[in-house]
Amino acid sequence: MSETPNSGREPRDENVSPSAGQKMPGNPGRIAIVTGAARGIGAATARRLAADGMAVAVLDLDAGSCNATVEAITAAGGHAIAVGADVSKDNPVEAAVGTVAAELGPPTVLVNNAGVIRDNLLFRMSEDDWDTVLGVHLRGAFLMSRSVQKHMVDQRYGRIVNLSSSSALGNRGQANYSAAKAGMQGLTKTLAIELGQFGITANAVAPGFIVTDMTAATAARLGMTFENFQAAVASQVPVRRIGEVDDVAHAISFLASEGAGYVSGQVIYVAGGPLG
Ligand code: NDP
Repeated sequence: MSETPNSGREPRDENVSPSAGQKMPGNPGRIAIVTGAARGIGAATARRLAADGMAVAVLDLDAGSCNATVEAITAAGGHAIAVGADVSKDNPVEAAVGTVAAELGPPTVLVNNAGVIRDNLLFRMSEDDWDTVLGVHLRGAFLMSRSVQKHMVDQRYGRIVNLSSSSALGNRGQANYSAAKAGMQGLTKTLAIELGQFGITANAVAPGFIVTDMTAATAARLGMTFENFQAAVASQVPVRRIGEVDDVAHAISFLASEGAGYVSGQVIYVAGGPLG
């Protein structure tokens, strides 16, 4: 894995202003879309890919919510735009990908990160809980991948990274989420098989416990303070700590890099120990 941001093959030219539309070296000319990038893992990934030299479309439900991520990237010398779309809806997805292509160029890196949880034990889980979670994670990744692949096939190059989860292996209270995250792994492997001939790789990262608003919500559901929840989880993790968003962004950075072209259809658990 690359150890530092911008660890590509060319040195960064500090005189180039990426915000003027030029691309930072390292991943020359690459345009990335990161979904659910207003906060959490998506925001960290958008910042990391920008530091790696990509122009980044920061996509979330509401474009306005992406401003902080875009400003952080711009302040660090990168180039990013905010794009609003619900990834579970076909027309907004097509429009968003069209906007990215028009404003930045053809997207050839896609990180399907947008996510929600609607946890409940099976007997209490509503159809809406099920449909919402499957809709955002799985249908969202399908719609985004289907839309972006046209540009990738044209360019004969692409990197798709899907967010799975340790919950793909099963987790109490998460029948919907576990099914979606296991589905992400099947989707990933099939995309790898279908799209490999066009220079496109598809891989998944499956985080364990990462500190974000999502896991704060899980702690609340379990009636624990977030601090106590983190301590309880950390004691069970082989590396004896909980995960940070940059731990996941680092793995995604590798899979999205030019040099990772012979790694496809894989699931990397980012969980501080062996899973899977
Ligand atoms: P967060 O809840 O912090 O962020 C998720 C983002 O996705 C939010 O900005 C949210 O927007 C956005 N989003 C939700 N629905 C949609 C939609 N329909 N269209 C576009 N954007 C949407 O989550 P995390 O950063 O924790 O998680 C990111 C990904 O990583 C998810 O796929 C999650 O399942 C996965 N993951 C997380 C783990 C963890 O421990 N945190 C562990 C394993 C996997 P809004 O704020 O408006 O709702």
